[in-house]
Amino acid sequence: MAMNRVQFQKGLSMADFQAQYGTEAKCRRALYRSRWPKGFRCPACGDRRRSTFRRGGQPYYQCRACAHQATLLSGT
Ligand SMILES: [Zn+2]
Repeated sequence: MAMNRVQFQKGLSMADFQAQYGTEAKCRRALYRSRWPKGFRCPACGDRRRSTFRRGGQPYYQCRACAHQATLLSGT
């Protein structure tokens, strides 16, 4: 019984993936750009001014107008 060898196809390689999201900073930037393509906008009041701080190793973005806190991964 003959068996066909399956050719191993190269898709998105690990190297490509790491080149895109290699560092944590790049990953954050990609998340930030997908969340706020035109820059930060407060999900609560729409103000564009924000300050940044860290909590638990995660960056938080706090609206300066209403003090709403958002993360890159949180919902609205
Ligand atoms: Zn706000």
